[in-house]
Amino acid sequence: MSDENRIPLAGVIGFPIGHSRSPQLHNHWLRKYGLRGQYVPMNIKHSDLEDAIGALPKLGFVGVNVTIPHKEAVLWLADLVTDRAALIGAANTLIFRDDGKLHADNTDGYGFVENLRQNAPEWDPKSGHAAVIGSGGAARAVVASLIEVGVPEIYISNRTRARAEALRSEFGARVTVFEWVQAGRMMKGAKLVVNATSLGMESNPEFPVPLDALSSDAVVNDLVYTPLETPLLRHAAGIGCKTVDGLGMLLHQAVPAFERWFNTRPEIDDETRQIVLQ
Ligand code: NAP
Repeated sequence: MSDENRIPLAGVIGFPIGHSRSPQLHNHWLRKYGLRGQYVPMNIKHSDLEDAIGALPKLGFVGVNVTIPHKEAVLWLADLVTDRAALIGAANTLIFRDDGKLHADNTDGYGFVENLRQNAPEWDPKSGHAAVIGSGGAARAVVASLIEVGVPEIYISNRTRARAEALRSEFGARVTVFEWVQAGRMMKGAKLVVNATSLGMESNPEFPVPLDALSSDAVVNDLVYTPLETPLLRHAAGIGCKTVDGLGMLLHQAVPAFERWFNTRPEIDDETRQIVLQ
């Protein structure tokens, strides 16, 4: 098959994968920009990961997104790892290069910051401390990008304190760890609050951290996007805070991957949000 007859394929690998909204998003952009290509969800077990990643470029794939539980494991298989993926310790985007090399990147932190830039342009990263709840993969991406954009101090709390301590020892003196039962104290004077746990997601327990000390000039961002208006965001809006939902991060993190794979930079607008919400 000649190169011009080849239909570029991309997709998302994970286990399970049924919940992923990425196929709707990327296929919408392919249609919108009149591009040849297809984006498919692929259920791949850990034991098949290496074989699958070896086979995909031969089948015409230009790259894939990576989701739970493979985000860390793919770093071991990559020939090239971007600085931000190495710093976060996980990749969400793979590029199968023409020279046969496997390139791993992490665009979660980029998506997180772009979402705030688009939806809370009044937030000045240098204006004061950020309070981050959680210490999993998403929190790592959040902390790395907050440091990159110049947030002076990052307060962090996690149910399992050891994971928060691990973040502090990697990311350094700008990070301060708070006891889980005292997480409400991080809210005093915070200019940004980020929920990077799964608390508040449909069928999960509600976000338990008290917001009494939060002032109305804080921006509150929940990475959870099912539901779009989480109890945390509802409560914060009641205090008068600017609130930002997690859907925008999902959309923005996809932009650099789509651009790399299909040579077109997609735009995020209301139509894009509606497509993903369907
Ligand atoms: P992860 O690595 O599994 O981390 C989960 C985090 O949630 C940990 O900090 C965990 O605390 C905490 N947690 C879970 N259940 C809890 C409970 N019952 N009580 C207290 N803490 C609890 O997952 P992740 O990849 O970081 O994702 C975290 C959330 O962010 C998920 O809801 C995910 O959907 C969302 N996310 C959104 C985007 C987006 O684009 N909007 C991108 C990535 C992730 P322990 O350490 O104590 O277990």
